[in-house]
Amino acid sequence: MFVTEIKKFIQQNNYPEFQLKAVFFDMDGVLLDSMENHSQAWVKTMNGLDIPFTIEEAYLNEGRVGHDTINSAYMRTFGRTATLEEQEQIYETKTLHLEALGEILTMPYATELIEKVKQQNLTIFLVTGSGQPSLLNSLDDYFPDVFVKERMITAYDVKQGKPSPEPYLKALEKSGLNPWEIVVIENAPLGVESSVAAGLFTIAINTGPIDTEVLASSGANLVLSGGMKELYKQWNDFYQACQAIK
Ligand code: CA
Repeated sequence: MFVTEIKKFIQQNNYPEFQLKAVFFDMDGVLLDSMENHSQAWVKTMNGLDIPFTIEEAYLNEGRVGHDTINSAYMRTFGRTATLEEQEQIYETKTLHLEALGEILTMPYATELIEKVKQQNLTIFLVTGSGQPSLLNSLDDYFPDVFVKERMITAYDVKQGKPSPEPYLKALEKSGLNPWEIVVIENAPLGVESSVAAGLFTIAINTGPIDTEVLASSGANLVLSGGMKELYKQWNDFYQACQAIK
């Protein structure tokens, strides 16, 4: 079934072929089971400033860099963007709330999938809007020697976060690969938009409360409603479909 989607992708983008060489992973909600804590931390931070903010809104903002989330809430509430000082303070408060919520574990099946991808000799990149040091550092504990600086794009590397294509274009540049040699694993609508705009084959996995339809309409090439578990189960079939296309 995956051959059809891959062929469609090649045709839509006018690419000469599809030859899988690398997998670009998003972090929150894909590798780390962190979205519930992120959402709660944002709600606590914003409500502490008398800014109305809901759990659902946090999920819909997922993938954005922190200052974009802060500015859109500020604009809506105060009719202006936050100053740089305010942005820094608010992000710091959010970080404190997040850390107080306790340790964040890996997404079920993330370790198994990474292992499989490593065995297939595919290059692994991280592309995240996150600037949370505790989470970025935890990657090396959970997935030793997989996510190294040379193969990571974080909030610190971009001017514009997702949904801009910048993070994925930067990762593409850093990888030295062609856009038809990559598959992206995303779980959030804005993340999918970013990667699709960068011209990359995007698999959206639904790991949160958002309707699967929302992921499909954000342009993903494949949508798996069963989250990481389903992706892990289907991965070999997808990999074989990629080999069959060559
Ligand atoms: Ca995510």
